[in-house]
Amino acid sequence: MKGSGVNSVKNILLIIALVFSPLLVHAATVASPRVIIQPEKIGPGDIITVAVKNAAGPVEGTFNGKQLYFNPANKTFKAVIGIDLNQEPGRYPLEVMINGKKLRKNIRIVKKKYPVQRLTLPEGMVVLSPENEARAEQEQKKIAAIWPFDSLRIWSGNFIDPLPGKKVGTPFGVRRIINNIPKNSHSGVDITADEGEPVLAPNDGVVVLVDDQFYSGHSVVLDHGQGIYTMFFHLSKINVRHGQAVMKGDTIALVGATGRATGAHLHWGVRMQGAKVDPLELIRLKLE
Ligand SMILES: [Zn+2]
Repeated sequence: MKGSGVNSVKNILLIIALVFSPLLVHAATVASPRVIIQPEKIGPGDIITVAVKNAAGPVEGTFNGKQLYFNPANKTFKAVIGIDLNQEPGRYPLEVMINGKKLRKNIRIVKKKYPVQRLTLPEGMVVLSPENEARAEQEQKKIAAIWPFDSLRIWSGNFIDPLPGKKVGTPFGVRRIINNIPKNSHSGVDITADEGEPVLAPNDGVVVLVDDQFYSGHSVVLDHGQGIYTMFFHLSKINVRHGQAVMKGDTIALVGATGRATGAHLHWGVRMQGAKVDPLELIRLKLE
C-alpha cells in the first residue's frame, strides 16, 4: 500500500511536469514586447515611426486620438505618424494594444525653428481681385475635402524622390513674410527643375485630384492609402486622370511654372492623416 502511495505521488508530479513544461518553455522563449519610437527629438513637420517588437499578433493603436496603421515588416510592426507643421509643442498620448494589453506613452513634441523668408513684391501680385480671392478660397476647400484618413493601404516599401537628384529651392516650413505681412508657412518643398522634367509617383497610389488652380496651377494629388497623400503643383503637363491607379516610378506629370510660380519648379507636398509634413522626411523613412 505504502509503495503504491509513493508511486501515485510520483505519477501526479510527472503529470504536473508534463502539463506545465510546454508553458514554461514557451514563457522562456517569448520576449516581452518592446516599443521603439524614432527619432528621439520630434518637432512639427516631422514623421515618427513607432516600431513594436515581439508582438504575438497584430498591433493596434492611436496617437492623439488618430488611428495608427501597424504594418508587419521583419518580425516588427511599424506605424508612421505625421506631426503637423502647426502642431503646438507639448506632450501627446500614444496608445498601443500589444498581445491584448494596452500600453500608454507620451510623445513629446518640441519647438522647431524654420527659416524666415522676407519678400517684397508689387502690391498687385499680393492683393487678389475679389474674383481670384473667391476662386482661391473655393480651391482651398476642394483640396481640404480630399483627405479621408481610413483608406486601405496602397503604398508598399520606401517612398522615392519624385525628381531624383534635383536640388531643393525653398525648403519645407519656411515662414514667409511678404511686404511685412506674415503669410502661411511653406507646406511643401520646392524642387528646382527644368520645364518638362518628368515627375515620378513616389509610391503606388490612386489619383484623387487633377485640377487647374489659381495658386498651384496644374495640380495632381495621389492617395497612397492609410491616410498618406502626395501633391504636385505648377505642372506643365499631366499624364494621369482622376481615379487612375499609378505605380511607384510612373511618370505622372511634367515640371512647369503654372499658377502662381516665378519659374519652373515642382512644389511637392505630403499629408499624413491631414498633417502637413516635410516630404524629404517621407523619402528618408525605412519602411521595408
Ligand atoms: Zn512651394
